[in-house]
Amino acid sequence: MTEQTTPRRRFLKLAGGAATAMVFLGSLPSRVWAALPHLDAATNATAKALNYVEDNSKAPAPHKAGQACSNCVHFQGKAGEAYGPCAIFPGFDVNAKGWCAGYQAKS
Ligand code: SF4
Repeated sequence: MTEQTTPRRRFLKLAGGAATAMVFLGSLPSRVWAALPHLDAATNATAKALNYVEDNSKAPAPHKAGQACSNCVHFQGKAGEAYGPCAIFPGFDVNAKGWCAGYQAKS
């Protein structure tokens, strides 16, 4: 006896596959979905004008020790993430260890 594929059986198969996919996708970190291109001062005129650097230890004056994107009021990434969005550079992720002249300490 062969198994017939009824519409109900087909629906249950698809629903099961969709549920499995949802569980898998839900387990991924949210940043996988929203990853933006990394800001690059070599190709972004605003970043260059604001002296953006990926490594704050290489930032020019008026940078002060301890200043980094991760503790800037404009940084919108989550704590512990290597990159995150910045309100000054929409459409790009900045390095949490980076810095630019738009830096403002979080209060
Ligand atoms: S504004 Fe703040 S978060 Fe954005 S690049 Fe400059 S220092 Fe980093």
